[in-house]
Amino acid sequence: MTSLPLVFDAPKRGLPPRHLADLSAEQRRDAVAELGEKPFRANQLSNHYFGRLTADPATMTDIPAASRDRLTSELMPPLFTELRRVSCDEGTTRKTLLRAHDGTLIESVLMRYPDRATLCISSQAGCGMACPFCATGQGGLQRNLSTAEIVEQVRLGAVAMRDGELPGGPGRLSNIVFMGMGEPLANYRRVIDAVHRICDPAPNGLGISQRSVTVSTVGLVPAIRKMTEEKLSVRLAVSLHTPDDELRDTLVPVNTRWKVAEVLESARGYADRTGRRVSIEYALIKEINDHGWRADLLGSLLRRHLGQLAHVNLIPLNPTPGSKWDASPKPVEREFARRVEAQGVTCTVRDTRGQEIAAACGQLAAEG
Ligand code: SF4
Repeated sequence: MTSLPLVFDAPKRGLPPRHLADLSAEQRRDAVAELGEKPFRANQLSNHYFGRLTADPATMTDIPAASRDRLTSELMPPLFTELRRVSCDEGTTRKTLLRAHDGTLIESVLMRYPDRATLCISSQAGCGMACPFCATGQGGLQRNLSTAEIVEQVRLGAVAMRDGELPGGPGRLSNIVFMGMGEPLANYRRVIDAVHRICDPAPNGLGISQRSVTVSTVGLVPAIRKMTEEKLSVRLAVSLHTPDDELRDTLVPVNTRWKVAEVLESARGYADRTGRRVSIEYALIKEINDHGWRADLLGSLLRRHLGQLAHVNLIPLNPTPGSKWDASPKPVEREFARRVEAQGVTCTVRDTRGQEIAAACGQLAAEG
């Protein structure tokens, strides 16, 4: 097993107290027993949290009142206070700003489409990857989120859908993307544990299909290789942003450590193991990475390394306030996509939900 470099080791500072959603089924039973309760109470609690999506002790009437108070205060400490909700796209996109127990701000974005509802979640408060075009990257890493803090964002999104808080009536949260604040694979263990809690069927998890979960990374190669061994079927998304090392060293500074070819080879390993196509994320930035020759190079590189197992998502950049970076004009975007596809690689332009509410990664918290 590959160990991750020290620079990505998790700072423990600021993590919230232990929560039910941090623990595996076995650990939950042990934790309940340590509190002097019958182990089956762990299943009851889990059913409430993961199955009924509630963390309110008053509704857990199958557990005697005295036990209920002790169990919930020990195993379900409140994780977030909701500070703000901002909606756009006629209410079908909603961004939520949450404050954690130590004052840390994080955000998640719920997007409802005719056929699905996708929640974009954060895995860290801030981000240490320092991509210069990204609002979150400018503030640096504050801390990792706990497994439960990641899962709780999903529970809250699932509640919002179930209760019909977005136009369109009650529905089901169907897709999760780890594309909010942070580099998910820099918080590796907690993110993988969170994937299990999000995907395992109730009472052990929220029951969302792994195939509907996307984990993104800027290309932490040892972590991609490690994830390949986890026997997951989540989709891997690689934020590439340019096919050449020279520019990528500046756009995605971690590239000075792991080069484009290495990143794509590790992604290939993941795709081979899982049979899942890898998403290649590419934020199109005007006159920085939107040149025709880069589209050609991107297409040919992907064809060589990933063949049919790559899909390019072009993301029109959502410029941060006061930034020198801007989105590429539409004709340039169309030409870029055409040239990638001409190399035999599928390519789509991602819709820009949430532009009005600054939903590009980290921007709401940055404006906080
Ligand atoms: S683009 Fe993603 S990886 Fe880069 S700094 Fe922003 S949040 Fe971090």
